[in-house]
Amino acid sequence: MASEKEKVGSEVDFGDVLTKVVEIAKKPYVDPEQEALKATKRLKMREKQKKKEENQKAKESNCAHLRQDGSSGIAWMQNSDFIVRGFCPYCQTDFDPTHPQYSALRMIPTRAAILR
Ligand SMILES: [Zn+2]
Repeated sequence: MASEKEKVGSEVDFGDVLTKVVEIAKKPYVDPEQEALKATKRLKMREKQKKKEENQKAKESNCAHLRQDGSSGIAWMQNSDFIVRGFCPYCQTDFDPTHPQYSALRMIPTRAAILR
């Protein structure tokens, strides 16, 4: 009687163990070294991106966006959504209405406007 109970008990336990084994087997293997390497790469990438953004901001703030004749160096164009956007070839900056200096920069005459 007692041995039969033990047998039933061990069968239930075996089922649980099997379920856990299957769960563990289904989980993808995570190599802690690889994870650490990925984290380091992510950190380096973020730092690189931050540096790139800082360089771009510095480039933009050091650029007058003007040609030698004082006309605007920004190439303005109206897009299909009727919003006028610009690009400065000297500092590689895009200008759209969200740019803080957009209105002021739009007031600077372009070479095309001067030649007219
Ligand atoms: Zn510029």
